[in-house]
Amino acid sequence: MGEGAFVTRSEQLRALSDEHSAHNYHPLPIVIAEADGAWVTDVDGRRYLDMLAAYSAVNFGHRNPRLTAAAQRQLGRVTLVSRAFDHDQFGPFVAELAELCGKDMVLPMNSGAEAVETALKTARKWGYEVKGVPAESAEIITFDGNFHGRTTTIVSFSTDPDARGSYGPFTPGFRVVPYGDADALRAAITPNTVGVLVEPIQGEAGVVVPPSGFLTAVRELCTEHNVLMMADEIQSGLGRAGTTFAVEEEGVVPDLYILGKALGGGIMPVSAVVADSDVLGVFKPGQHGSTFGGNPLACAIAREVIAMLKTGEFQERSRELGAHMHARLAKMPSDRVREVRGRGLWAGIELNGPARPVSERLMGLGVLAKETHETTIRLAPPLTISREDLDWALDQFEAALKD
Ligand SMILES: *Cc1c(COP(=O)(O)O)cnc(C)c1O
Repeated sequence: MGEGAFVTRSEQLRALSDEHSAHNYHPLPIVIAEADGAWVTDVDGRRYLDMLAAYSAVNFGHRNPRLTAAAQRQLGRVTLVSRAFDHDQFGPFVAELAELCGKDMVLPMNSGAEAVETALKTARKWGYEVKGVPAESAEIITFDGNFHGRTTTIVSFSTDPDARGSYGPFTPGFRVVPYGDADALRAAITPNTVGVLVEPIQGEAGVVVPPSGFLTAVRELCTEHNVLMMADEIQSGLGRAGTTFAVEEEGVVPDLYILGKALGGGIMPVSAVVADSDVLGVFKPGQHGSTFGGNPLACAIAREVIAMLKTGEFQERSRELGAHMHARLAKMPSDRVREVRGRGLWAGIELNGPARPVSERLMGLGVLAKETHETTIRLAPPLTISREDLDWALDQFEAALKD
């Protein structure tokens, strides 16, 4: 390495990433070395407030002491046995998660995409074996602007050209209708429809909240036509929107919850599908699975996450700090900000121009946020953020808009 070729440790490490990592992301130019609560520190010792929280996977803050303690206890006992054997964290984990969701069965996986795949398989299997749909003809309805993960089947019903481009041929059996449009959903349902897959609030689309009454209409249509309502709460759930699940806003109970991200406490990937036994009971041994799904370390961490959610304190923080954040965002200069969406400590800010320069200026001011699509900034700080830190971040946001 030539002398003086790199100015900082950060630049040196970024050059390594640039050269040897596939360029499937466009990260901000920062190299994080440590994190604590809502704050991260880069390799050159600069501190930044994290206003993204790993897309809501770090809802409880970086290295939350309750969660790292649970992980450390489990690291000293047993970490992985595979589902070939039972272990002492498994039964309590599935029982506690089922109870949190008001359901009676859990199917644990790892990543969010795997949980979505599990939900799709569940709906098809249920459709053929319970509803009685003719073989190979099950249909699942999804919504435009959706984000449910990156597998070839999931991108088959994406409407984002970047997510789909050059990945065909695609998996058949999906219909896409406009998000928030209950009439379009009604028109798309056929006797072969087995499931409706919906984000109660669309995260990656830029925190898009559907019109009031939409989720209720989805629930009613699913009930009327004997179709499974599958709520992808991977990003919207577990406190982010001010309630344990975003569907609670309308008092809606889906047939199936899809969970991930914050379920792993920001420590490891943990995901799950949660439903009643008349739905998840369709699986028999050998018909679905995962080597790492439901492992002891994952279960121990997720059990602590569930215990923390049961106190209600994180949902309450999300509601209170979220109301404060949205009140301040509503007063941001209207020549720069076109629209602010969201609920709880979660906002999609639609700018009048490109968002990337704003997230770069924010970084320069010590705040980490990320654009989604061209003109949207998403704010989703850890739910543990202090009011003072939140206010400071919003001051910086206002400054970054003006530059
Ligand atoms: C992040 C996300 C996923 C995919 O989760 P991965 O863990 O990245 O596979 C699916 N659905 C929603 C709503 C998400 O936000």
